[in-house]
Amino acid sequence: MNIFKAMAQQGHEQVIFNFDRRTGLRAIIAIHDTTLGPALGGCRLFPYGSEDAAIEDVLRLSEGMTYKAAAAGIDFGGGQAVILEDPVNRSTSEALRAFGRFVETLQGRYITGEDVGINESDLVQVAKETHHVIGLPKAYGGSGDTGDMTAQGVLTAIRASLEYRFGSPSLTGRRLAIQGLGKVGYQLARRAMAEGAHVIAADINPHVVGKASAELNIEPADPWTILETPCDVLAPCALGNVVNRGSIDRLACHIIAGSANNQLEDMEMGRALRERNILYAPDFIVNAGGLIQGAAELQGYSQERAKRQIEDISPLLSEVFRRSDESGLSTVEVAMAIVEERIDMLHAIRRIFTRPS
Ligand code: NAD
Repeated sequence: MNIFKAMAQQGHEQVIFNFDRRTGLRAIIAIHDTTLGPALGGCRLFPYGSEDAAIEDVLRLSEGMTYKAAAAGIDFGGGQAVILEDPVNRSTSEALRAFGRFVETLQGRYITGEDVGINESDLVQVAKETHHVIGLPKAYGGSGDTGDMTAQGVLTAIRASLEYRFGSPSLTGRRLAIQGLGKVGYQLARRAMAEGAHVIAADINPHVVGKASAELNIEPADPWTILETPCDVLAPCALGNVVNRGSIDRLACHIIAGSANNQLEDMEMGRALRERNILYAPDFIVNAGGLIQGAAELQGYSQERAKRQIEDISPLLSEVFRRSDESGLSTVEVAMAIVEERIDMLHAIRRIFTRPS
């Protein structure tokens, strides 16, 4: 892989390769854009098939974080770390501490947190070596799990999408199909049921489906056909890449608004959804609740302030939908343009000299 070429194409500032010979830790940190502030983004632990696959992932995820932070109106840049999981030498607490040492060397240029494969207790190990961590458990001074705040953001996005498409934000009587009943999907199902929606949900883990059926009275569905369920809103809350050339003609929804990152296979899928009259709420706007909660920790955590910021997802989406209809561009293209305008504007403002403190 030609790394500098990939960085130039996607606009990255810095990629750091970290190796600790004692623990065997192999970690890559990518800093995409720090125009708005220090790079913020989680750490993913994953058994990548190759080093190229890990580099591609960290570049893609860190770029996404720039868009997510700028869209949410929080002054942070985009970054991400990945740890290449070794199936033989599984990651130890010492390896996580070694990762923390490397994060500390960046002196706050990159702030890490949870992602796939890394949980709150892993972050406690990381935090023994660096201050630049968000998402610690409440007992360690953090704000705890972000699943519920992310679900709140998804629900805000669903209401804004329903209003735009049907003229009313109400979920009462609306059919909502949720793919994935994990930390976000379960909380979304709970909140939507409370607002009178008919929730159909699927997960590849039958235990979580059983729990949600018993506790919330949702309608369980087959994980292999959930994307084809006729519904008002489809909420992908499991994996990325769900809207692809194989699935797009089988979708039977009016709106897509869910928490999964990178839901579209590529930009062409955004245009294809528009042609099929499916209103797509861009994932990096919809799922910003967790990032908003994490960033709020760095400013002295206030749940009230974080909740207020999550409500801002609604007017931003309305603007995206309106500009998409006016221009004929896909909602993702419009959302990316709005984000780039925001970054350019702040970049221009920051040319004003102030004495360094
Ligand atoms: P999670 O791991 O708690 O839950 C994901 C669930 O999806 C699991 O229950 C898993 O069994 C299920 N699943 C996996 N593949 C599936 C499939 N093919 N069909 C049906 N179910 C499947 O993760 P989460 O924290 O709930 O996050 C869900 C998604 O939202 C992820 O893509 C994550 O990156 C994204 N996201 C999460 C947050 C957050 O705060 N947790 C924030 C932003 C984005």
